[in-house]
Amino acid sequence: MRANIYDSVTVLSGVGEKRVEALKELGIQTIYDLLTHFPFRYEDLSVKSIEEIEDNEKVVLEGTALSDGVLTYFGRKKSRLTFRLNCDHVIVSVTFFNQPFLQKQISAGSNLKVFGKWDGNRKALSGMKILSSDLDNSSREAIYHTTKKIRQSTLIKMIKQAWEIYQDDLIDPMPENLLERNGLMPFKEAVQAMHFSNDDRILEEARESLIFREFFYYQLKLGWRKSQQKNSQSGSSINYNVESLKGFFETLPFTLTDAQKRVVNEVCRDLKLPSQTFRLIQGDVGSGKTVVAAAAILAAKTDGKQTAFMAPTEILAQQHKQSLSQMFDESFLNIELLTGSTKPKEKKRILQELKDGKIDCIVGTHALIQDDVIYHSLALVITDEQHRFGVNQRKKLREKGHNPDVLFMTATPIPRTLSITAYGEMDVSIIDEMPEGRKKVATYWVRPKYLERIIEFAKKEVLKERQVYIISPLIEESETLDLENVTALHRLYQESMGADVKVGLLHGKMSPVDKDEVMSAFQANQLNVLVSTTVIEVGVNVPNATLMIIHDADRFGLAQLHQLRGRVGRGLDESYCILIANPKGEKGAERMKVIAETSDGFALSEKDLEMRGPGDMFGSKQSGLPEFKVADIVNDRHILEEARQQAIELLNTAEFLTNESYDLLRKETGIINVNETFLD
Ligand code: ADP
Ligand code: MG
Repeated sequence: MRANIYDSVTVLSGVGEKRVEALKELGIQTIYDLLTHFPFRYEDLSVKSIEEIEDNEKVVLEGTALSDGVLTYFGRKKSRLTFRLNCDHVIVSVTFFNQPFLQKQISAGSNLKVFGKWDGNRKALSGMKILSSDLDNSSREAIYHTTKKIRQSTLIKMIKQAWEIYQDDLIDPMPENLLERNGLMPFKEAVQAMHFSNDDRILEEARESLIFREFFYYQLKLGWRKSQQKNSQSGSSINYNVESLKGFFETLPFTLTDAQKRVVNEVCRDLKLPSQTFRLIQGDVGSGKTVVAAAAILAAKTDGKQTAFMAPTEILAQQHKQSLSQMFDESFLNIELLTGSTKPKEKKRILQELKDGKIDCIVGTHALIQDDVIYHSLALVITDEQHRFGVNQRKKLREKGHNPDVLFMTATPIPRTLSITAYGEMDVSIIDEMPEGRKKVATYWVRPKYLERIIEFAKKEVLKERQVYIISPLIEESETLDLENVTALHRLYQESMGADVKVGLLHGKMSPVDKDEVMSAFQANQLNVLVSTTVIEVGVNVPNATLMIIHDADRFGLAQLHQLRGRVGRGLDESYCILIANPKGEKGAERMKVIAETSDGFALSEKDLEMRGPGDMFGSKQSGLPEFKVADIVNDRHILEEARQQAIELLNTAEFLTNESYDLLRKETGIINVNETFLD
């Protein structure tokens, strides 16, 4: 009896408890999982002639054995099997290690195909396997991700068995019109091709078909969830006072850029809607996100509602509190700061006032989401640099209010491919314009041997009464990693800059109070130079700082370097960023050149993604990036755009929810038509 394709792999012969466990580690539980466990690469098994192969290449050679295989043992389990192979009059010496059982296949005069690694100097092949000599000449071998517990050959046997029995159950959720429109290979054929095809062209077609499907299904799900959210009435609707907002903008010492105006409008539209909205606001360093946040806070206030503004570090929380306080009259909008270092008595007062609704906006760190924090009328949550917050923390804070609207602000430009995948459920606003008169930060990449000259340059800036940042990557001596040490650097700069120059030290192991003290001193221009780890990375605003020196710059990601560079160039003076690095290899040098030449954060983030891949850029599983089986959001981004476009189009058609040709597609993506009737 044939079972269902979603049945456990145990229905296959030879799959017992142990194999079930092994397969589970690979994410394979059902027959369907097994059949969609695709090879991640293919080994070329076509026979090569010796002239066309390169040293160290893995190849298949075909020839006549000139002797029987000679087997020598050394130790109990170790063996070497050698023979000579005549490949078109070139005599190749072949060696197999620890595969004594191959001996019986090797006899003088027999024709053999041997797969192995070629050593050009010695005309020798380090053999890996003997292939059946009647193997088709264009053949290839599919290579699967596997574990120690299960062999490639075993996996392949299972897949073949599953294919034989279940191939007709591989039902294609794609309706005819979409298959045609996109020239997609039918699902079953594509699966077959991925596992068994020898034809490059067909394989590529299959791959693209599957990639399109993965992206398309995912974008459909995202789009659907987003539209559900939009249509729900579960959020709070902030009926702000437009005149107050207009009045506020008039009090600013500058006029908003067009980009800021656009984003303020987008945000305010969200606030008014009865649904709970999530909006990501991206803007390069210095693009002026704070004032956008301020407008939203004010909007909430004019409707008698509270805002929580969460920052990743104390320093940033404090700075946000400061810049917001400068924008508003205290008697009109009451802003308080709550962090881990708020004194108990003070904290008690703040908590009470929050509960009573006397505080309009609370700025803080993670302290804002602790259980003892109770809000009176939380309607808006703003998080700064939100990728540093875990999903759960965001959820916790959100749950404190009545589904508050959430704004995520980030100065880390997120490449479009990532933002429509990881943040696809959110709306995205981009402040893609700098306030007028902003100067570019002149950036130079310099080798460490020029350190003395760099210090001379720093001295000159200090003489001009400007301030300097020095960044070192790590705070503690580490013998294994050859990294600069922040205290050693501090000593170095203090000694070489002269006794008149005040050099401060800032790092993550300092207590919050000490950190604040140093930061405030730097902000107040009581320190000329600040040697720091990356704790100053985001948001810190000291307009008088004009020089940023980054040691071991090649250890940072491009986005992070760009962030650091953004700490200077915030005033009217010419600013500089000097990257000290001795990168090993071409890639490292390329990265240094790119950051020196590019000042556009978005362009850099695209480059970063290309060079490092999405995992590295985002750092953690928390990122919300889905795992695709075939698709790669970087390399396949052209397909992603197309799939997204079509998903949005389809969601906007009435037929999608009603026409039965989309039944399977809705099922595949878990989209349920709430109007569907099951019972008559
Ligand atoms: P970021 O986007 O990096 O958070 P900020 O909001 O800190 O940027 O703004 C950087 C600086 O630019 C602040 O000093 C702010 O007052 C100023 N600023 C913001 N918007 C404008 C504008 N439209 N014109 C001139 N200066 C502006
Ligand atoms: Mg900011």
